[in-house]
Amino acid sequence: MHGPSEAFPLDEASMGRLLDAAPAQDPVRVRDILARARELGGLEEADLPILMALRQPELLDELFHAAEQVKEEIYGRRIVLFAPLYVSNLCGNECLYCAFRASNRDLARRALSQAEIAADVRHLLRQGHKRLLLVAGEAYPQEGLDYILKAIRTVYATREGTESIRRVNVNIAPLDLQGFRRLRETRIGTYQLFQETYHRATYALMHPRGLKADYDWRLGCMDRAMQAGIEDVGIGALFGLHDWRFELLALLRHARHLEDRFGCGPHTISVPRIEPAEGSATSEAPPFAVTDADFRKLVAILRLAVPYTGLILSTRERPEIRREVFHLGISQISAGSRTNPGGYEEDGGDGGAQFSLGDHRDLDEVVHDLAESGFIPSFCTSCYRLGRTGADFMDLARPGEIKLHCQPNALATLQEFVEDHAGPATRAAAGALVAGSLAAMDDRARTRAESMVARVRRGERDVFC
Ligand code: SAM
Ligand code: SF4
Repeated sequence: MHGPSEAFPLDEASMGRLLDAAPAQDPVRVRDILARARELGGLEEADLPILMALRQPELLDELFHAAEQVKEEIYGRRIVLFAPLYVSNLCGNECLYCAFRASNRDLARRALSQAEIAADVRHLLRQGHKRLLLVAGEAYPQEGLDYILKAIRTVYATREGTESIRRVNVNIAPLDLQGFRRLRETRIGTYQLFQETYHRATYALMHPRGLKADYDWRLGCMDRAMQAGIEDVGIGALFGLHDWRFELLALLRHARHLEDRFGCGPHTISVPRIEPAEGSATSEAPPFAVTDADFRKLVAILRLAVPYTGLILSTRERPEIRREVFHLGISQISAGSRTNPGGYEEDGGDGGAQFSLGDHRDLDEVVHDLAESGFIPSFCTSCYRLGRTGADFMDLARPGEIKLHCQPNALATLQEFVEDHAGPATRAAAGALVAGSLAAMDDRARTRAESMVARVRRGERDVFC
């Protein structure tokens, strides 16, 4: 169907052997792995099955604690917020788990016009969002890829008062090299795509028809994106299709492959779990549903395995589990989401949605909740705008320097939210959090952060370092 794969060879046999070698629960070995991970060097492949098999509550607690420590060491307590922007649910594929699949005749199909996209963007700006993830099914209106490129330009050009979206990430179907070069010219932040499942036989079952049926074309996608000069890419797996332990090992191999080939691994890894979707074929029982207990474990292991990679959690998850995994290393979350094109317009309803959400709260409520729990909600888009992408970002992250940017930027953008968008309860909780966080910072970071927050209070906007 497509040209030869340029992806790494994912050797399933060796993965199977590694995962099947059931390790004994040896606390000394587990603690040795956790001690190494706390030094921020990541994990070896052989460490994974040992941590995956952990059951003893005491050792599990130690795993979770190590994950929290590693996250705080690198990023501090900030959590970056974004909203997905679904521009179209037209799709020619047949992914069994998705409501957008072509054979779902009951779905109201819609591709937003550029004016409708601008209306959704204005709505999101009024909520306080600064970064979006543009999402679409794999079939575009007549213009083809140009439709998406125009949509991205529309998002950046849309204004609400003096405000505009500062970073657009994109989750669209794989492109060829030329397509990725054109996408890069639109100044996207991260290009994101999930392999869904790295297990070839399961992939074939789940994607019986359409362009997406080609496993290798998808697996080689990030290689093409990076070859085309897109420096920040985001990978992920749709948990529930196959054994989570296999997917985790494959994600790690994918990350290492990109690091070996391009000198920089993925900017982010997403951990979506399958949700019920109207008109899908997996609604009731995903074949390998991941329990909450295993989900906590997989997030913590990922945090230790790739300490410098952002971990993204979406509103597929319920607030309770979201709160728990914030502590285990999640660094970015979506909030106030709709998964139907046009869903943000007032009274947009939820017809045409991709899957059901676990978290229905609006942005203000999520910011309030984060602030109450001591996490710093951040709307920062600084790295990408100052060219700290790809290997440059990693060079700052490795010696622990990124915190010097993340924390002041988080506080300055949170202060913007407080000034312009927050309800009374959020204003109180976030105000106390800003004051407390400033007081707890070391001198170098505090001087910078205090001056940035003060500039925002005086009416300046888009203050970043
Ligand atoms: N159409 C493109 C594709 O499939 O890569 C990009 C957009 S697609 C709408 C984004 C992601 O939604 C998919 O990669 C898939 O992992 C996720 N998704 C689809 N159905 C889902 C479901 N029922 N529950 C949770 N996530 C789902
Ligand atoms: Fe289409 Fe993507 Fe949904 Fe598959 S996951 S049916 S490609 S929108």
